[in-house]
Amino acid sequence: MRILVLNSGSSSVKYALFEFKNKKSKKICNGIVDEIGSNKSNIIFNSKNKKIAKKAKIGSHEEAIKKAFELIVKFAPGKIDAVGHRVVHGGELKKSKIVEKSEEKIIEKYEEFAPLHNPYNLLGIKICKKLVDVPQIAVFDTAFHSTLPPKAFFYAIPYEQYSKFGIRRYGFHGTSHKYVSKKAAEILQRPLSKLNLITLHLGNGASVTAVKNGKSIDTSMGFSPLEGLIMGTRSGDLDPAVVLYLIEREKMSVEEVNRYLNEKSGLFGVSGISNDMRKILSAKKTNKRAELAFEMFCYRAKKYIGAYYAALGRVDAIVFTAGIGENAPEVREKICGGLGNLGIELDKKKNKKIKEGVISRRSSKVKILVIKTDEEKEIAEETYSIMKNGGNGE
Ligand code: AMP
Repeated sequence: MRILVLNSGSSSVKYALFEFKNKKSKKICNGIVDEIGSNKSNIIFNSKNKKIAKKAKIGSHEEAIKKAFELIVKFAPGKIDAVGHRVVHGGELKKSKIVEKSEEKIIEKYEEFAPLHNPYNLLGIKICKKLVDVPQIAVFDTAFHSTLPPKAFFYAIPYEQYSKFGIRRYGFHGTSHKYVSKKAAEILQRPLSKLNLITLHLGNGASVTAVKNGKSIDTSMGFSPLEGLIMGTRSGDLDPAVVLYLIEREKMSVEEVNRYLNEKSGLFGVSGISNDMRKILSAKKTNKRAELAFEMFCYRAKKYIGAYYAALGRVDAIVFTAGIGENAPEVREKICGGLGNLGIELDKKKNKKIKEGVISRRSSKVKILVIKTDEEKEIAEETYSIMKNGGNGE
């Protein structure tokens, strides 16, 4: 079975084609068409035998997706059995879904909550429907967190806001947290259904999830991807009174505060240098604000480990993933430092050397793992599982 994975975003379309044989998958090719709407869009295609990187005018998402199909037909020919789509917000949907009219309505309904993602995700689905007559399956970033209990997903504001508008914690990065949880079970050679994990997705966006017996029971991103950890340009947790104060004293509009907290804060806002952890790490020896940003980033993550340790009661492993989690030993060392009393003992040598696997000491009660996330593969696996189960996922 051949499954195409599509991530249709606001200005780019990423794609990857997987072939499944007896549940085992192999990536055949992948690529991206970005800067949609410009005269110099990048068109990238990669397979074992063919690499393309060129620039051309791509005026719309439809043109971008047609271009991706054209390259696949030419350089990786064969039938496509289904398309799996990344969809950021699926509200309270618990599983991936074949997209019919009613699912389109749900994705549309949550456009208000994910205006930079859902409209483009849905556009990708609609375009693919026109191009290939095969099941189109939506895999939601929120679905893995649909197992959060009410005590974790309610906000302590008047209850009616939940019934009226659906204001609650939804959580994001679910596809990544799920993928690394499955992978952790493989590495530890234990069933996921018996594992308690704290998974830290530390990229430009960052979130942490408490996984109990393989299911998400709490997560740091909330109603939107702004809550929780400090991120590249997002503030993460903040006293809501700060927002009110900014509106009052800086005379900011709602739109301005939104941009301030999403695009001008986080590592970038504190350091004044960059949202990129690599730049923060190299600047921090001589730059006090870069050092402060680094310290704050790691301290916030450490606090969440403490909180989720308490929520879980027992932790089998802590998992680091995404750009920073996978590539910055210094950040992992800082976050895990001083947690020996909780049974969390990092092996400093392994931490520097190992690219994927266990980086804790043998004596560490809680294993520490680095795992490369692969959201495309997880979307392909979800899609495969839906196809195999006649429209129902796991
Ligand atoms: P992601 O959103 O998962 O693609 O992660 C992107 C972020 O990972 C970048 O903004 C960098 O801050 C960070 N990153 C990537 N490589 C490294 C590295 N070698 N050391 C530290 N941070 C890194």
